[in-house]
Amino acid sequence: MRQSNVLIPTLREDPAEADLKSHQLLLKAGFIRQLASGVYNFLPLGRRVLRKVENIVREEMDRASAQEIQMPSLQPAELWQTTGRWETMGEELMRLKDRHERDFALGATHEEVVTALVRDEVNSYKKLPFTLYQIQAKFRDEKRPRFGLLRGREFLMKDAYSFHEDFESLDETYEIIFNAYKRIFERCGLNFRAVIADSGTMGGKDTHEFMVLSDVGEDTIAYSNESDFAANIEMAPVVTNYTKIDESKLPLEKVDTPHVKTMQEVADYLGHTLDQGMKAIMFKVDDQFVMIVTRGDHEVNDVKLKNLYEADIVELATEDETRDIMGAGFGSLGPINVPDSVDVVADHAVKYLVNATCGANEDGYHYKNVNPERDFEINQYADLRFIQEGDPSPDGQGVIEFARGIEVGHVFKLGSKYTDALNATFLNKDGRAQTYIMGCYGIGVSRTLAAIVEQYHDDNGMLWPKQLAPFHVHLVNLNVKKEEQIELADQLYNQLQQAGIDVLYDDRNERAGVKFNDSDLIGIPYRVVVGKRAGEGYVEFKHRESGEQEDVHIENLIQHIQ
Ligand code: ATP
Ligand code: MG
Ligand code: MG
Ligand code: MG
Repeated sequence: MRQSNVLIPTLREDPAEADLKSHQLLLKAGFIRQLASGVYNFLPLGRRVLRKVENIVREEMDRASAQEIQMPSLQPAELWQTTGRWETMGEELMRLKDRHERDFALGATHEEVVTALVRDEVNSYKKLPFTLYQIQAKFRDEKRPRFGLLRGREFLMKDAYSFHEDFESLDETYEIIFNAYKRIFERCGLNFRAVIADSGTMGGKDTHEFMVLSDVGEDTIAYSNESDFAANIEMAPVVTNYTKIDESKLPLEKVDTPHVKTMQEVADYLGHTLDQGMKAIMFKVDDQFVMIVTRGDHEVNDVKLKNLYEADIVELATEDETRDIMGAGFGSLGPINVPDSVDVVADHAVKYLVNATCGANEDGYHYKNVNPERDFEINQYADLRFIQEGDPSPDGQGVIEFARGIEVGHVFKLGSKYTDALNATFLNKDGRAQTYIMGCYGIGVSRTLAAIVEQYHDDNGMLWPKQLAPFHVHLVNLNVKKEEQIELADQLYNQLQQAGIDVLYDDRNERAGVKFNDSDLIGIPYRVVVGKRAGEGYVEFKHRESGEQEDVHIENLIQHIQ
């Protein structure tokens, strides 16, 4: 493309509104322009890079046997009301009304839509498993849209959803997609870690985030310096000093328990009133799950439950409520056996249905009315805390180090949260109706682009890796008034294009300084400068990243370009 007529509005000054390098450079080099807070135009260079990232994502998703579809952004409120997320998504969900005053949401994510689609179009186990995906704009009214593409209100996401007969099949697909994600971020040249994460408002059990290591990341990752262990510290607390309750000393009443399903049922069977102060959290210690139900009328301030570690946290309360558990009192505490098939599904008040039986290592039993001060020493729990740098890694290998991360991808085992809510069933082998087990998998495509810039830039501009660069070669004619330079530059432009090389051709009538600045800023991997030695058939060949440059005869030019 001839730069003289491509829309690349580079800026001379650093944009005042941008603090982060990726935000600054993408604006300054004319890749993006803001339309409204957290809403961006992608200009030709930005669009080209975005497409390259999209294509890597698409290739790897296709390779993982996922099928590309496209779902609408405009979504009827009823779907969201059925799953309860019309309420629980709160202000982040963008809402609007049509001319008939019917409520709609702009897709923040597509579990509801995809589940309804599959419910209506598939009905037999014979089709299972399968994965559907799309690459599409998502809308979230973020409280603080910031950092340019890193936290937008309209942004590009690849979202995928898998449907299964059982958890075994979900586990298989989860692994396949997990590996596809690794390949995607490797192909993007990113330095990243897959970390154990929290299931947030999505519901579900196993979940991992893909974090690009970057000082500007909003998350903190705890990782082992010797093994693959890595967790988002916010959400993967580890029990460092858990002491099992001495059951013989507990003056507890054993009660027969039904399957605990909702917070209300938990409350009912514990004999509590379900009030605002009641929260529950389950965590895993060794192979045992523990549920703690808290009540507002106990105050045990030094017990920092938030600081319990270990990946598998199953919340019975909302995320915020669970976080509030810090400092709240215990209403009941006891080890719970949770069968492997534990199904976590939400209802409105609780978020998760725990299809588990509570008991002291016995199915169907649960200790009732545990009183922390009476029944065990609170102090045993008081030193539970966030994992810290220098701690031994929970997997026994190496020592914990911290890093900041940008969440570029997230994979979840959802279970039947959405298929239950939307009554999405299929006929299983026995001819019986059964709800699908689901997985869901997201990648922030536009955020990934910004994360790449965070890792690939220098003081003068961006340093695009070849596979992502908007163009492969930047051909710069330093003086458009010299006939022999124009001739040679035009000739090279044609030759390179014929060789299948993507070329941005700076044919503008601008000073050399401006051209070099812009070229550095845009960061195309190879620069070919047609200057004073044009008459001899020599051009200056420069690697943008290393800064190495040499004079190359035009006959040898193509072989320099890899
Ligand atoms: P975050 O914790 O940063 O708010 P999230 O956990 O809410 O992200 P998910 O629901 O997991 O996001 O969505 C899948 C992916 O979409 C994320 O991993 C991230 O890469 C991307 N993403 C989420 N929110 C935004 C946003 N506001 N702007 C750009 N990308 C986003
Ligand atoms: Mg978010
Ligand atoms: Mg997150
Ligand atoms: Mg996430």
